[in-house]
Amino acid sequence: CGIVGYVGGDDAADFLVEGLRRLEYRGYDSSGVAIASDDEIHVTRAVGRIQSLADRLGDPPAGTLGLGHTRWATHGPATEVNAHPHVGGNGEVVLVHNGVIENYQSLKDGLLEKGYVFQSATDSEVIAHLIAEGLANTPATEGQPHARYVTAVQWAIAQLRGTYGLGVVFRNKPGFMIAARFGSPLVIGVGRGEYFLASDASPIAGRADRIVYLADHQLAVLTADGFSVLHRDSGKVRVEIQPLEAES
Ligand code: GLU
Repeated sequence: CGIVGYVGGDDAADFLVEGLRRLEYRGYDSSGVAIASDDEIHVTRAVGRIQSLADRLGDPPAGTLGLGHTRWATHGPATEVNAHPHVGGNGEVVLVHNGVIENYQSLKDGLLEKGYVFQSATDSEVIAHLIAEGLANTPATEGQPHARYVTAVQWAIAQLRGTYGLGVVFRNKPGFMIAARFGSPLVIGVGRGEYFLASDASPIAGRADRIVYLADHQLAVLTADGFSVLHRDSGKVRVEIQPLEAES
């Protein structure tokens, strides 16, 4: 029911946990975070209050890029296995999702046939494996290190029917995050040398003074050096960067 993300120069964990607390008002039954370090993505999940997640994290893994999620279960009970982030392929894709994928069963059947192994009962895990399948089918473009990942996400979300706000990180690409939305709100907080992702402005207020509201069918690429917004089916789009009041 809520998404947060961070990429920048600080430890991601602080913003992620505090951001999830600020999204608690939206309601949720479980939560989780993914924190990327050099060659690994650490996933921690817990049922119940954000405090349970914070307790479980303890001294959280160091890493300057990460995603967080509060879940309001729609497909599969509120268990730790069904909590987000979900992992796709052989661990190369880690994803958080808000919304409902209406055609998840037919997509899942196709992925099962191809040999993908599912851990959860959620509709969301389908998206993680679809992106992994997209990566497997997309060769790298020389000189454009992010292109292959963007193409894989575009290919995957073009097959989804339903609603989604997504945050995606990749094991082989630390320092890089993709967000996408259709029907579930997502905003980007524009800082200095750091960028934030959230379901609404509340986690970002006080951390960044500029904000971008993503529109349906838009996809964003975030690194510590900047962000760009693309249309799901085409290239870059211009977006309006708006001021964000500290107390909003
Ligand atoms: N449909 C997804 C699930 O059941 C996401 C629910 C949400 O938006 O939190 O896990």
